[in-house]
Amino acid sequence: MIEAVPGSAQTLAAHQQVPEISLVAPMYNESEGLEQFFKTVTPILDQISPAWEIVCVNDGSRDDTLLKLIDYHQRDSRIRILNFSRNFGKEAGTTAGIDFSRGKAVIPIDADLQDPPELILEMVAKWREGYKVVLATRKERKEDTWFKRQSALMFYRIISAMSEIDIPKNTGDYRLMDRQVVNTLKQLPEKTRFMKGIFAWLGFPTTTIYFDRPQRFAGQTSWNYWKLWRFALDGIFAFTTLPLQIWTYLGAMISLFSFIYASVLIVQTLLHGVEVPGYASSMVTMLFLGGVQLISLGVIGEYVGRIYKEVKGRPIYIVQDTWGFQDLTDRD
Ligand code: UDP
Ligand code: MG
Repeated sequence: MIEAVPGSAQTLAAHQQVPEISLVAPMYNESEGLEQFFKTVTPILDQISPAWEIVCVNDGSRDDTLLKLIDYHQRDSRIRILNFSRNFGKEAGTTAGIDFSRGKAVIPIDADLQDPPELILEMVAKWREGYKVVLATRKERKEDTWFKRQSALMFYRIISAMSEIDIPKNTGDYRLMDRQVVNTLKQLPEKTRFMKGIFAWLGFPTTTIYFDRPQRFAGQTSWNYWKLWRFALDGIFAFTTLPLQIWTYLGAMISLFSFIYASVLIVQTLLHGVEVPGYASSMVTMLFLGGVQLISLGVIGEYVGRIYKEVKGRPIYIVQDTWGFQDLTDRD
């Protein structure tokens, strides 16, 4: 006779229940830090309820992240895996994880331990008080370079001045969302996934807790300045149409100035006759207007590109296989 392991029935039940809490961790080349990640996170989740799940999204890693994940899943089936067909980027990974999560509350978290897992307890406490969204905001950005700090500051200034939604400053994807918020989020079909903006757009009763962001535990950041720049543009173009509309006003102003300048020229010609010199002023106006037109074309291009992407309607991500979801693609 096989003797029952104490607690096993309870654990098994926990594995089948609707999870109280889902962590969503997008992972790209996180092999080195995985062990530490699970070692830190699981005891904290256990404190909340044995019914938890961690939805790990392997976003086309080039290292052995997936193999390690499968190993963890086999040891604890509450660790579930989505494996993408290639690298789709962090925003897509977060979206997929949230789509597949089943918990009553969902928390997207970075796998590099830069989002301190201890905060989960505090988030859950706030959630149980009745808040639908609990944000984790960085107190300051000590660990970033001066340039990154300044550019982040500028980004938040620009976007809050231009768009009607309020994107909380220094707040990443690390936050708790109630199931109701998650279900609403799933109704937003847009392909340009600027998650911070999308989260902010949803609204719901929100509170904030503050923390100091530590350095990456292991591995390397996959963001360079070019990617960050494109990311910032995604945010701006996805959440405001002001850059499109501003040209109307700029054009009107330039036309007004040209009208005044033309009148001055006509009067001058009438009074003093035809003056040949004027090379400098015509060059300057020509170049200036050429520049303005190119910029406005570029802005239109940014929007048209994004419209094109939406119109094609391709999925945001492709899940190649899953572990722990009991569906057709499941490898269990
Ligand atoms: N990530 C991802 N796909 C990518 C890039 C990053 O899933 O293409 C994940 C990464 O594994 C980590 C999180 O997104 O869990 C945050 O990435 P990273 O630490 O590189 O960003 P940073 O902390 O520097 O903003
Ligand atoms: Mg990081």
